[in-house]
Amino acid sequence: MGLVWDPEANAVNDRPLPVPTGVKNLGFISQFVEIDDDVVFTVEYSVRAAQMAVYQRLGIERKIPLITQNSKSLKVQLDVVTKSFT
Ligand SMILES: Cc1cc2nc3c(=O)[nH]c(=O)nc-3n(C[C@H](O)[C@H](O)[C@H](O)COP(=O)(O)OP(=O)(O)OC[C@H]3O[C@@H](n4cnc5c(N)ncnc54)[C@H](O)[C@@H]3O)c2cc1C
Repeated sequence: MGLVWDPEANAVNDRPLPVPTGVKNLGFISQFVEIDDDVVFTVEYSVRAAQMAVYQRLGIERKIPLITQNSKSLKVQLDVVTKSFT
């Protein structure tokens, strides 16, 4: 059975932010939060969501690793084109 959830079908407001605005004591984690520009269904996504929620809620001054912009990498784009013709 394949995946039945299509992340591309999501609208930005479908999922809560890890730290929702207007709330003081609540944070969300896992795949079901909105992280702009990140790729869902990865361990990194869940780790990043937890870091965002915990660091912000507890005032922890640690950097969250940058999101790797693979989809904008020229090498990745060339690899995609090459693979699609092999
Ligand atoms: C087959 C498969 C292959 C994958 N391959 C990759 C891969 O190669 N690379 C990659 O980055 N990602 C991969 N993923 C995705 C990745 O595993 C998930 O995105 C990631 O594990 C999600 O982490 P999480 O901590 O948000 O949730 P989970 O890892 O699902 O953890 C949630 C935890 O909460 C527990 N739980 C649930 N309900 C309750 C409850 N009511 N009370 C107490 N505990 C509860 C569950 O038992 C579980 O331990 C794969 C997923 C699958 C299914």
